Amino acid sequence: MNEMHLKFLSRSENEVFARNAVAAFILPLNPSLSELSDVKTAVSEAVTNCIVHAYRGGEGWITVICRTEGARLSIEVSDEGRGIPNVEEALTPFYTTLPDEERSGMGFTIMQTFMSGFSVVSAAGSGTTVTMCKELGERAESDAG
Ligand code: ATP
Ligand code: MG
Repeated sequence: MNEMHLKFLSRSENEVFARNAVAAFILPLNPSLSELSDVKTAVSEAVTNCIVHAYRGGEGWITVICRTEGARLSIEVSDEGRGIPNVEEALTPFYTTLPDEERSGMGFTIMQTFMSGFSVVSAAGSGTTVTMCKELGERAESDAG
């Protein structure tokens, strides 16, 4: 079992910091390159959502918590921003509340595709937590088979 907590401001440069920090944390689990890239992409989408939607470019805290249990990784990305009034609608592919800022509404869909477990808890006005899981060990499986 291992765990790490990161807390940083919602500045756009911290998106790269967060995805690389998570990648560095999971490196000892010996992920394949495709697993590493899936996890980095999912973290990047979740953190970008906090920056552009939760705080709308303003300043606020973003927390990333990673836990590993054997080969199982779970990641929580949370903010204390505006929240999502209708989560089900927000999860619909191509749904975006910022169509004019070249957002395609695919962030949540990408997170769900690249990670195995996925859930969103949000309350309008008090913030959002996205939880994602992934079993790392694709390579161990293919080595065995
Ligand atoms: P893309 O991710 O493709 O650039 P997007 O960010 O609009 O576009 P999603 O990431 O799928 O698409 O998010 C869908 C919608 O959910 C957003 O447009 C926004 O309204 C809402 N949303 C997502 N994350 C948050 C958040 N952390 N806080 C508040 N609203 C959010
Ligand atoms: Mg997004």
